Amino acid sequence: MRICVVGAGLAGTLLAWRLAAHPEVRVTLLADSTRHDATAASGGLVRAFERDPDTARLSALSLAELRSGRVLREWAGYRPGTSLYVLADGGRQGPGLAALPPSAELLQPPRLAAEFGFRRLPEGAVGVLEHSAGHISPDGLRRAVLADLAARGAAVRMGRLRALTAVDGPEGTLHYRTGTGPGTADALVLATGAWTARLLHSLGFAADAARWRTKVIQCAVHHAGGLLPPAFVDETTGLYGRPAGPGRMLLGLPTERWGAGPGTARFLGREESAVRAAAARRLPGLSLGRVLRTVVAVDSYGPAGRLGLVPVPGGPGRLFAFTGGSGGSAKLALAASREAADGLLARLAHPVPVPSTASTRRETS
Ligand SMILES: Cc1cc2nc3c(=O)[nH]c(=O)nc-3n(C[C@H](O)[C@H](O)[C@H](O)COP(=O)(O)OP(=O)(O)OC[C@H]3O[C@@H](n4cnc5c(N)ncnc54)[C@H](O)[C@@H]3O)c2cc1C
Repeated sequence: MRICVVGAGLAGTLLAWRLAAHPEVRVTLLADSTRHDATAASGGLVRAFERDPDTARLSALSLAELRSGRVLREWAGYRPGTSLYVLADGGRQGPGLAALPPSAELLQPPRLAAEFGFRRLPEGAVGVLEHSAGHISPDGLRRAVLADLAARGAAVRMGRLRALTAVDGPEGTLHYRTGTGPGTADALVLATGAWTARLLHSLGFAADAARWRTKVIQCAVHHAGGLLPPAFVDETTGLYGRPAGPGRMLLGLPTERWGAGPGTARFLGREESAVRAAAARRLPGLSLGRVLRTVVAVDSYGPAGRLGLVPVPGGPGRLFAFTGGSGGSAKLALAASREAADGLLARLAHPVPVPSTASTRRETS
């Protein structure tokens, strides 16, 4: 079974790595290292608590795998720490809060104020404090996994997928072309992050490309003093952040820059001002100095709101997408890639019949 994974961000690299663990699979990972991808920019916050039950399950599994394996911890540069998730309407979160991660406890506003400096929280806000969370370097993990893949003899090919040149019927071979030459596979997975919609469009699947949107993520590392919170997400303002070394704090707010072109994006001063205003309101004990480093990149936002494997609708049956991280897939990529690999192999063992196609499609950009 030959599977080509396109894209060597965290999603594609981990998926290729999971697939390479199956002796019957020959994996080719198509890596284009020339682009500024989400993995390179990612802040790498990891925790188990999430509102969405599936996201929470995958995040908890990923965190458990990370924490239990010395090699993975080293590859990912794992830094243990606490994580605080402030819910805007905690009082009405019955089912979600019933499934708190084992290392978590609920905090009411007086403790959130006294211990972490969260002030003027709206009525109903509560905090979920996880004691066993932390952050990783998604880029470091990607690089280590790439090195391991190469050491195991998996084919890591440098180049960009340019075209899907032919499809030999429902269960036949997919022929593709990269910047450096042709290739064949029994299945092809686009783990191409924010480039997915554009790529699908240019491969001829215009109608399906709209499933994956893009959005800019902007944050910055500041000089910081006073009362520094731990890694946190505050739903009441949208603010998120984590300590980034002594006297430094990484902070950001979700942007509304939907539909951005993949790759680099501009750092906007007005968004940075909004971060300072939100921090001043909610965390008045935190004093922010000058910006030391800006971070801005574009991620893929899929219909499920989390990284997952789906067949490309309207595609030739063996064309899949593994993307849609929605600004949060570093924390669940370990478990999502394992489930995607297992799911993919199960699907390929029992293919769903699709009409025979013979096509020539090209990437134009
Ligand atoms: C600033 C920022 C901060 C973040 N912070 C966190 C966080 O704290 N916690 C968390 O859980 N998540 C976080 N995320 C989200 C998480 O990092 C991303 O969801 C994740 O890294 C996406 O990985 P990916 O592999 O899907 O996409 P990418 O990393 O974007 O990789 C896609 C890859 O596909 C390649 N590619 C595209 N087209 C082609 C082609 N035609 N041929 C070959 N290759 C191609 C690109 O070159 C790229 O390498 C953050 C994201 C950003 C941007």
